[in-house]
Amino acid sequence: PCTDFDKAYFHSYAHIGIHEEMIKDRVRTETYRAAIMQHQRFIEGKVVMDVGCGTGILSIFCAQAGAKRVYAVDASDIAVQANEVVKANNLAERVIVLHGRVELLFLQDVEIDEEVDVIVSEWMGYMLLYESMLGSVITARDRWLKRGGLILPCNATLYMAPITHPVRYQDSIEFWRNVYGIDMSAMLQLAKQCAFEEPCVETITGENVMTWPHVVKHLDCYTVQLHELESVSTTYKFQSMMRAPLHGFGFWFDVEFSGPENSPANNPTQFPIIGISSNNPVDGIPRKKRSNPNEALVLSTAPEDPPTHWQQTMIYFFDPIEVEQDQIIEGSLTLSQSKENRRFMNIHLKYTSGGRSYVKESVLN
Ligand code: SAH
Repeated sequence: PCTDFDKAYFHSYAHIGIHEEMIKDRVRTETYRAAIMQHQRFIEGKVVMDVGCGTGILSIFCAQAGAKRVYAVDASDIAVQANEVVKANNLAERVIVLHGRVELLFLQDVEIDEEVDVIVSEWMGYMLLYESMLGSVITARDRWLKRGGLILPCNATLYMAPITHPVRYQDSIEFWRNVYGIDMSAMLQLAKQCAFEEPCVETITGENVMTWPHVVKHLDCYTVQLHELESVSTTYKFQSMMRAPLHGFGFWFDVEFSGPENSPANNPTQFPIIGISSNNPVDGIPRKKRSNPNEALVLSTAPEDPPTHWQQTMIYFFDPIEVEQDQIIEGSLTLSQSKENRRFMNIHLKYTSGGRSYVKESVLN
């Protein structure tokens, strides 16, 4: 069951750079720490599993919050260092580092032969679903999580919005029209392909966003099933709030850290938390998409929020579309796990505006 692709994937997590980048992302790491501390009363004296512990940082936060035992699982060789870090912090009694794939733990000598009260994991990839690690969290949940247990984060939402980015288009494409006085327009087609064929991970700002985002997918970590991740489809309809060239679509996500009492899975009679209104601003307040009565912590990667290492993911068109204020931009999107390598994501995007329709296929890899 461990493919060469998986080996390459876990090998990439043996390098220090990737962990350094994640740990130095203070928005990410401090939100996780704050969430763990916010749930301290739940975590105290309980058993935790950290799915994909990396350097062990989240496991140690949980131990600091008073967890009785933490199973820190990672398939990458970084688990060797995680184990050293745990020992150096005198936590070896409570934090048990398991070097292996969460899906294959039952094949190992060290089995987790108890249920866990808490699952913590930092599983989110670019465009939320790239890397497909949420599947491993689902596997752990179904095998080890107690009824009424806590999952951090508890839900995730992927958003998209139409983007205008003249500076980016100028830099990569228009630039070729006049290079030191030489007409290099012959380069344009190649420039478009090289710059914009595949999705780009880069930082945009709120000013690039042409209207309210659309919810591509909302995932409840308590109830989401593996098959739901194979393919995600949505139809969207935007009304541009500005007159501007439309250069493509931007994607970002957020995750929430509320307690199990707020999960529809644990409260079949209670309605799910309302508050994610995609295209309609609530009370006309810009960019506040969420009413949050429970003060749940949110880790957001939106363009208007402080930047994270996830940045935003952009799908640019080869040619911009001139859009008038109030003009409709509509279409559909399908994200599907690639057949050759389920960690890659195929993106099928259809868009119509000003009476013309387009299709764009790309791969995030
Ligand atoms: N929790 C750490 C690292 C997050 S990165 C932190 O917050 O800094 C995700 C980690 O999950 C990587 O180290 C990767 O090797 C591990 N991982 C991904 N899928 C896994 C699986 N199925 N089993 C075990 N570890 C996995």
